[in-house]
Amino acid sequence: MTLHMYDTKSRSVQPITTQDNTVAMYCCGPTVYRDAHVGNLRTFLLSDLIARVISISGVKVKRVQNITDVGHMAEDIVGDDKMLAQAKLESRDPFAIARKYEERFHIDLARLNIEPALVSPRASGAIALMIQTITQLIASKNAYVGSDGSVYFAASSFPSYGDISGNRLAALKPGHRYEYVDDGAKRFHADWALWKSAGNRTELVWDSPWGVGFPGWHIECTAMSLHYLAGHINIHVGGIDLRFPHHENERAQSNSITDTEAVDMWVHGEHLLFEGRKMSKSANNVVLLADVISRGFDPLSLRLCFLENRYRSQMDLNWQSIATADATLRKWRRAMSEWGDNQNILADIQIAQHLNKDLDTPRALQRLRSIEKDLTIAPENKGALFNYADQILGLDLSRTEARKPLPEHLLDLFNEREKARADKQWQRSDELRVLLEAQGLAITDGPHGQSWNWS
Ligand code: AMP
Ligand code: ZN
Repeated sequence: MTLHMYDTKSRSVQPITTQDNTVAMYCCGPTVYRDAHVGNLRTFLLSDLIARVISISGVKVKRVQNITDVGHMAEDIVGDDKMLAQAKLESRDPFAIARKYEERFHIDLARLNIEPALVSPRASGAIALMIQTITQLIASKNAYVGSDGSVYFAASSFPSYGDISGNRLAALKPGHRYEYVDDGAKRFHADWALWKSAGNRTELVWDSPWGVGFPGWHIECTAMSLHYLAGHINIHVGGIDLRFPHHENERAQSNSITDTEAVDMWVHGEHLLFEGRKMSKSANNVVLLADVISRGFDPLSLRLCFLENRYRSQMDLNWQSIATADATLRKWRRAMSEWGDNQNILADIQIAQHLNKDLDTPRALQRLRSIEKDLTIAPENKGALFNYADQILGLDLSRTEARKPLPEHLLDLFNEREKARADKQWQRSDELRVLLEAQGLAITDGPHGQSWNWS
């Protein structure tokens, strides 16, 4: 069984390609000037799910995810870099800002059971690589030095520009792009900067053959993906907003370097809304994983919420759905311990089929729920099937859920029932059971006495 995913460029569901039984995967990483919000985390989870589904079929995955710590211009602060703007705001060195948020990014991923990429290269550590890539693009006449000393990619040198997004050069209007002010130094309005000369900027700048400056955002992904994945990428993942211009420009750069189609498949995750609205600072509705945790929810309840929705659909998150997922997680973990301490794994063909069919996680969860209810499946097999699914779902289902202790008044009733049973007062024992059950307990009488659980 092979994973099939929707490829944005061909607009169709395609099988994942491999090289030497390995999938080379590149995921656009975070810009580390702030904490990742839950929307970003939905996109980062997507690459984890893809990698897990591929790995379980016995194929290796080499996953690279960049850390953008330079070169990403802010939408709202024209002409300023996101990193520099935040450094000013926090009165700290831009690299201190970058390291702080990079560390917090890795902590968030770990809390969501998102496995780390094999390599997470920083843009600031790949300046030489980018300069080398830009030099190649100038030599192949895909790029030129503008009248302002910045280096631009010549969009018209790449005839299939627009294949991913459908935005053809002829239809693009000047000024469609916020990243760099169009100061007339470009030959054509749709050209974009690969290297920007420093101008008045003194921080986050480097020497280059074109003078002091800094790289453009799109070039880092070309340079790093081709370098770390040996010139060919099987699957490239990011959020839907990156389809244009980021991935369109990256494809033009990478294909011009390799002279082939450098990426086999472009996968995009749809956006997450919160309570029906786009998350933004101005709407004051940006939710972080730390907020989920501070409300007492298991961080993996967020993971379960995401899994309940197909990655290609826009998803609306709210606190109620997180609370529901949190309760489901606890219920499943309790069920797992009741089914027996089972480390076994039993593959389920239906779950595998749903996941391999363009990552249909809602159907996989539906199947899990029907396994849970199926009276014909032995409890230990249910546990083994859940363990199988959890290798991909990553919900820690076999984790023993700490049981909320009995409050004193219920403990008294429970102990009284113990005594009634020892004294063979069966009627009183039954009355006490009814009382305990009415307060949300499930009572089981076994060969070693009574036991309780929250129902
Ligand atoms: P950034 O740190 O802004 O560069 O974004 C990191 C990743 O999160 C990119 O792949 C974006 O496409 C993705 N992303 C941004 N906003 C959302 C959202 N609301 N829902 C899902 N993914 C998002
Ligand atoms: Zn990227």
